[in-house]
Amino acid sequence: MPTVRKALIIGAGIAGPAMALALQKAGIDSALFEAYPSQAGGVGAFLTVASNGVDALDVLGAQDVLAPAFTTPAIVLRSSTGRFLGRTLTGVKLRDGTTSQTITRPDLYQGMHDAAAERGIAVEYGRRLVGINETPTGVQARFADGTTAEGDVLIGCDGVHSTVRNLIDPHARKPAYSGLLTTGGYVQEVPVDTEPGSYEMIFGKRAFFGYALAPDRSVWWFANIPRGEEPAPGALEMSDDDLRRQLIDLFEGDAGPAAALIQATETPIPLSPIHTLAHLPNWHRGRSVVIGDAAHAPSPTSGQGASLSIEDALVLAKCLRDIPDYTSALDVFVTQRRARVEPIIKWAARINSNKASGLFAAKIRDLVLPPIMKLTANNKAAIRQFAYHVDWNTPADISAR
Ligand SMILES: Cc1cc2nc3c(=O)[nH]c(=O)nc-3n(C[C@H](O)[C@H](O)[C@H](O)COP(=O)(O)OP(=O)(O)OC[C@H]3O[C@@H](n4cnc5c(N)ncnc54)[C@H](O)[C@@H]3O)c2cc1C
Repeated sequence: MPTVRKALIIGAGIAGPAMALALQKAGIDSALFEAYPSQAGGVGAFLTVASNGVDALDVLGAQDVLAPAFTTPAIVLRSSTGRFLGRTLTGVKLRDGTTSQTITRPDLYQGMHDAAAERGIAVEYGRRLVGINETPTGVQARFADGTTAEGDVLIGCDGVHSTVRNLIDPHARKPAYSGLLTTGGYVQEVPVDTEPGSYEMIFGKRAFFGYALAPDRSVWWFANIPRGEEPAPGALEMSDDDLRRQLIDLFEGDAGPAAALIQATETPIPLSPIHTLAHLPNWHRGRSVVIGDAAHAPSPTSGQGASLSIEDALVLAKCLRDIPDYTSALDVFVTQRRARVEPIIKWAARINSNKASGLFAAKIRDLVLPPIMKLTANNKAAIRQFAYHVDWNTPADISAR
């Protein structure tokens, strides 16, 4: 019997609902708190859930979350002249033949909330955590609206700019600006020369562009723009017209459909800086712990952030299920997950620097990338990354501290 009976989960993005589902599977109650007043709908960016994330959702029994997604098994990389640089896989084929899936962020969040709601787990919206008090027998969460909640442990699933992380260790290094800004959009009826589900990515002369053709023939695109200094808050606000104009200038002269897609996008997603968190010395203190982006935020280039968050939830639930002393359970969790996530973060940072590099570096990259891509697609480490499976029935190993 686990001694942890109730967990307070802070943040209902991806890790939060996954955590609540995994704890319920482990026989542990939870309460799930989200700062936003409601589930944000509307247009948002999209992301790819790699095969290991699809598998983790399957272990959770939440595979229906991916109903609105489409399969994106591979990426084709091209230079600014359209030269083919390489092809790499986004995942492995799972037993039922499924592989990586691309989905809009609002659809993924909504699906996670629905999966939780179906099992009687409600998200408590408008509850922004501002403080944590440890008591001799438990932990108390304090919210901005003056309310409080009590539990045996508190799990921070509150994203890359985590409050819980800051409360666990106020001196922890802040997430780093990656040197890239991001934007994107969705377009109907602009023909592109690619197969549905195939991701095309272009190292443009001045910025990086990616797009995928969805089964309904809409094109989903994103752009990463190198910018040395992190812009001040508010400095990226501009009209849709200005953003389109700036982006079209950036991709002028590059081969591929970037300019046409940007031109046809009615509402481009506002520009925002990308942050990463490579190494966090203390993932837990006392009864509080962080998971997901709050603990480790790889560059989006990895295509792994969401999947790692879901894996975290399963592994932590297993540790709390099988290891009666919560301190040991949290230690085992951190040791196991650090070994899994940190090599992925390092690998993604290397690719990220390719996206952010200047023109001279880009020439060298175009020469060396094809052999590297071949390596990545076939290499054992990549297969290990995508084929990772959380075995729910094998007890957590307390000696793995
Ligand atoms: C441009 C971009 C592209 C990406 N593409 C991919 C991809 O293709 N594949 C992939 O796997 N990953 C991708 N990622 C990464 C992925 O989005 C994250 O790894 C994932 O969202 C992490 O989930 P999370 O639940 O830990 O955090 P989040 O999804 O950020 O959720 C955190 C939640 O906590 C809430 N919250 C914050 N503070 C508080 C508080 N004080 N109190 C209560 N609630 C709070 C927030 O409102 C939010 O709902 C991308 C990221 C970016 C920026």
